[in-house]
Amino acid sequence: MKRGIAYPLFSGGLDSTILTLDAINQYEEVKPIFFNRGQTALYNERKAVKNISEKGSFNDKIINLNVGLTWNRPDGFPCRNMILMLIAASYIESNYDNYSTVLLGFNSDDTEDTSKEIIDILNKGISEGVRNNKEDARIRFEAPYIDLTKMNLLDYGISKGFNDYFELTWSCWKDGRNFGDKPCGKCYACESREKIGI
Ligand SMILES: [Zn+2]
Repeated sequence: MKRGIAYPLFSGGLDSTILTLDAINQYEEVKPIFFNRGQTALYNERKAVKNISEKGSFNDKIINLNVGLTWNRPDGFPCRNMILMLIAASYIESNYDNYSTVLLGFNSDDTEDTSKEIIDILNKGISEGVRNNKEDARIRFEAPYIDLTKMNLLDYGISKGFNDYFELTWSCWKDGRNFGDKPCGKCYACESREKIGI
């Protein structure tokens, strides 16, 4: 068991579902964070989070945070991951939880602000800029799958026996209700899933 509390950023997608289930096996306590950030797919993501967390009996642990930065890009605002990571750190600091790890499901197929450099820079940032983090780095960011491709991550999830959850996940960026609750099949997230045969 790893020390402390893990806060996986959990959207109900494939990567963050593997991340959350994996954390439950590894940490003393797990509190997944779900962001309402004004995303188009909010309804379907919430539904996925509900179904997955009920199946895994961790539905009472979910922390819902409202951010609502829609700008004019409903699929994802620029610097989204960096901003959400810092909001998670701010939330944890405000609750004074000891030894907290914010877990990210980033993998090597992800783009923009999901690199090792970003993790390192933000870890330095919160060591310096978060009051109680200066002495002993109580809050850390970790991305355990950063060297895995999406396909490798899927294989990893299967090796851990998480495949029963895959059909409950939701990755599509668009509002599935427009397609009778089915993914659109055309957005980047849908294409990524198709590539790995999910
Ligand atoms: Zn889609």
